[in-house]
Amino acid sequence: MADFLFEPPAPVSIPIARGGLFAVRRVYCVGRNYAEHIREMGNDEREPPFFFAKPADAVVVGGAAMPYPPQTGDLQHEVELVVAIGRDGAGIAPGQALDHVYGYAVGLDMTRRDLQGAAKKAGRPWEMAKGFDHSAPIGTIEPASAIGHPGRGAITLRVNGDVRQQGDLAEQIWTVGEAIAHLSGLVTLRAGDLIMTGTPAGVGAVVRGDVLEGSIEGIGTVRTTIR
Ligand code: MN
Repeated sequence: MADFLFEPPAPVSIPIARGGLFAVRRVYCVGRNYAEHIREMGNDEREPPFFFAKPADAVVVGGAAMPYPPQTGDLQHEVELVVAIGRDGAGIAPGQALDHVYGYAVGLDMTRRDLQGAAKKAGRPWEMAKGFDHSAPIGTIEPASAIGHPGRGAITLRVNGDVRQQGDLAEQIWTVGEAIAHLSGLVTLRAGDLIMTGTPAGVGAVVRGDVLEGSIEGIGTVRTTIR
């Protein structure tokens, strides 16, 4: 036993559909990956992909509730396809990228939109808008060996049963393979990394008591309640 000053935190893990746990190393996110969402945010859809990150321990699993975070009056939902990396790699070619994918899940990139707006305006980092505690509810991981690599399929977010976001994976500007290629040109990807691949149009605010359910055809769901 190493002489740690305090006990190191247990690894963050996500249940795998057919048993076992996926230990999370890092959580990367793709900004602006669906044209209609880019337009609703007033941005230019021709820009190359860019990335930001959330801490691994922002992940919320098992349908657990997430607390309404402090310092915001505009907590918003972004439903996203989550890619679970199962094999290390750097400088990965788009054609080989899917070989590095273990599986897929549905996730929510919860966002303090007011803090993000202020950060954008001031040219400051997005961390406190995107990487706050409990900001990444994620559903069960489905192995690609079981479901393949879905390039299309409805992606939907319901709040209290009402559809708020609706799109299709086929509308992604950067495919999963292209996102992995770009990201692995910036950092070495390792087994345990997650990539949240951007959200379709329809983002909006939620309040305490709201029940959020994200779903992607052929992959599954993610649920949380704001408390
Ligand atoms: Mn997002």
